Amino acid sequence: MSIIDSFRLDGRVALVTGASRGIGAGIAEGFAEAGADLALVARSKDDLEKVAQKARDLGRRVQVIPADVADLSVIPSIVQQTLDAFGQIDILANVAGITRRKPLLEMPPEDYYAVIQVNLHSVYFLTQAVGKIMVEQRRGKIINIASMTSFRGYAGLMPYSLAKTAILALTRNVAVEWAPFNVQANAIAPGWIETPMTATMVPARIKWVIDHTPLGRFGTTREVAQLAVYLASPASDFMTGQVLPLDGGFTAGHPWPELK
Ligand code: NAP
Repeated sequence: MSIIDSFRLDGRVALVTGASRGIGAGIAEGFAEAGADLALVARSKDDLEKVAQKARDLGRRVQVIPADVADLSVIPSIVQQTLDAFGQIDILANVAGITRRKPLLEMPPEDYYAVIQVNLHSVYFLTQAVGKIMVEQRRGKIINIASMTSFRGYAGLMPYSLAKTAILALTRNVAVEWAPFNVQANAIAPGWIETPMTATMVPARIKWVIDHTPLGRFGTTREVAQLAVYLASPASDFMTGQVLPLDGGFTAGHPWPELK
């Protein structure tokens, strides 16, 4: 297999949550470009259909699965719909995520539970359900989405940060437990990426991000997709249990203001 061919996903089936917009939509489009068929999960059916159409235009088969992953009882049905459509699941990208921004002293329990449910519990139970198929197949790639909040504290993001830190443990444990079955699990830790989630950031925070990011800009969903394609492809067969920051250098350090 040539180096470039080792990045291709032909004949693979990818289940992507959070696929209706932002990073999940970008990853789904990247997988489709690389050759994969897709099962796309999110609540917004219309938005999923738009992403699906782009993949169908490339000749891929797509199953749209409108579902709210905060309701954990839908998980068996998500897996079954994917199997009914394709008979296999080779790639799981757990991208669905929400945030609630408030000081801890003002964070109501419902915000805590909402964030943990989507950002951690749905990932845990979907990974368990899809992992069963992957272990039987003796083949699988799991890609989770961590965050800068997986590494450092930020005011006002406690539940989000807890979930995104737990994603690192989940990724490592799955990687070790299923390594004998040829299932690899890795996490991408994006810095700040241009998506509907970050579009609501106030200008002062946008400036702070750009000033503290050595490459001086937000990342794009396509840049996240490029790394996701690598992690989904045979090119990453010896990579497992890792968290890969994709952050324009943010975790490496910060530029001095007077030298910019
Ligand atoms: P986004 O633009 O808000 O998109 C979130 C996606 O998750 C949407 O497709 C949304 O679809 C889906 N989703 C949310 N709640 C859901 C639920 N209950 N059931 C099913 N789907 C649900 O966010 P994003 O910026 O692309 O972020 C995607 C992931 O990357 C998240 O895990 C986020 O924490 C992480 N992340 C983002 C950044 C960034 O800078 N953007 C940085 C680090 C990590 P519906 O609303 O249609 O359900």
